Amino acid sequence: MQGKIVKGIAGFYYVHVVGFGIYECRARGIFRKENKKPLVGDNVEIEILDDKDMEGNLVKILPRKNELIRPAVANVDQALVVFAAAKPDPHFNLLDRFLVMMEAKGIRTVLCFNKEDIAGESRITELKEIYENCGCRVIFTSALKKQNIEEVKDVLQGSTTVVAGPSGVGKSSLINLLQSGVKMETGEISRKIERGRHTTRHSELITLNEDSYIMDTPGFSSLYVNDFEKEELKYYFPEFTPYNDQCRFHGCDHVHEPGCAVKEAVDQGKIHEIRYRDYLEMYQEQQEKEKRRY
Ligand code: GDP
Ligand code: ZN
Repeated sequence: MQGKIVKGIAGFYYVHVVGFGIYECRARGIFRKENKKPLVGDNVEIEILDDKDMEGNLVKILPRKNELIRPAVANVDQALVVFAAAKPDPHFNLLDRFLVMMEAKGIRTVLCFNKEDIAGESRITELKEIYENCGCRVIFTSALKKQNIEEVKDVLQGSTTVVAGPSGVGKSSLINLLQSGVKMETGEISRKIERGRHTTRHSELITLNEDSYIMDTPGFSSLYVNDFEKEELKYYFPEFTPYNDQCRFHGCDHVHEPGCAVKEAVDQGKIHEIRYRDYLEMYQEQQEKEKRRY
């Protein structure tokens, strides 16, 4: 049978099999020999040992589409990043770093600005202006007033999504709403993993329905991993794409080269200055890092 690992604790893997529920599995020695560690999110083949007690063995890990290190999860389809439109005010620099990281990994991002109910009209307009060209879908929600929750549910449908955001933005409130009406095997899994209660926090996929999973990721700022070269950075800003090859100098990095089409686009308001400012900051950071390396 095939399923998906939704949680791993102390040598046990909890595998969700659509239509059947969650099986408690052990990994057979072959994984240790191959030095391949099963990850939450892995699609796996299992053999059933006991159908009543829902126990089994992991037999095979199916090929991975991708994997993240923090949080440790495989086969991520997308990221849902939650910020508040107000209270706290969105931290653009943090957000842009997150977007760059996901672009670098080739994982699409859906951007959710929560607390729409307390954000002024001008803030909403500003957020739309900055992020309309950033290559991701933008959704405004209010977890408090239960606004636009269906739209978020639609986006999650059929996907494995990591949900990230700084604290205080309403991420937990939102996740609670997304889970409402989910009666699935959550009781069952919590009974089984009772023993894991007091261990350190592990990454876990929450099953929303048949083929939709989310993973709540704590500790937002630790997510940023800048393991790319500074020359690559421009490709992680999707709104630069039409201009990347239009500069006077081939291979222009859009920093202080003359005749730069990206800088021109910023001056004309076609690329938002906040995004460009964050680009420059990240670029210079990479530059410093590379200098230290040599
Ligand atoms: P988390 O730290 O991101 O998980 O945020 P919480 O879900 O714990 O919410 C933080 C605070 O924001 C709580 O006081 C919530 O009641 C409040 N909150 C959450 N969503 C909204 C919203 O859409 N609008 C408003 N006005 N407050 C919200
Ligand atoms: Zn340029």
